Amino acid sequence: MTTPQAGNLDAYLEARIDRQPGDDGCWLWTLKPDREGYGVANWAGRTHRAHRLAYSHWVGPIPDGAELDHTCEIHACVRPSHLDPVTGLVNLERKHLRRGETPERARELALLDQQMYARQSEKRRADTAARSAAADVAQSVGVRVGTRLRRSTSKAGVIWRVVAITAYGGEPWLTVTSERTGYEDRMRLGDLAVATIIT
Ligand SMILES: [Zn+2]
Repeated sequence: MTTPQAGNLDAYLEARIDRQPGDDGCWLWTLKPDREGYGVANWAGRTHRAHRLAYSHWVGPIPDGAELDHTCEIHACVRPSHLDPVTGLVNLERKHLRRGETPERARELALLDQQMYARQSEKRRADTAARSAAADVAQSVGVRVGTRLRRSTSKAGVIWRVVAITAYGGEPWLTVTSERTGYEDRMRLGDLAVATIIT
């Protein structure tokens, strides 16, 4: 990837900004926003949040770990003077202050938010690890996504195709679909003892 030339980035940003009237009007990013309403920029082969790209271009590097608080509360805004680099906790705290909470309560709520986000990310990490462990166990007995199998030793049995491997209750489970009808079902990998792997 080549380092973008400052002039080019300037032109890229300018062409996608809709300046609102007034001395302190927002600079709205005109491309389709993401689910949280933040502008999305595609620059130098990468996807960026437009306000972070604009801020680092026009103001300078964003401190490590800092979030840019939209003081105007408009997520699609990329105007540097409306963006304030703060810690995640302060950003959450300000959100509650703007909703009319007292400073003490805003701090409490921000800490609760932070704990919730930490738990969510820990759970996502654990889920990913469990899924990956389940896939390893399945692979060790010759099963992966796409494997075709019968669930009984009868040669006449329905042929199923593995479409997903997940972890449930500490063991690997397979999501399978019938090749004939497309019907979807789930089975324990442990029940493969009576199943026949075809390919
Ligand atoms: Zn703004």
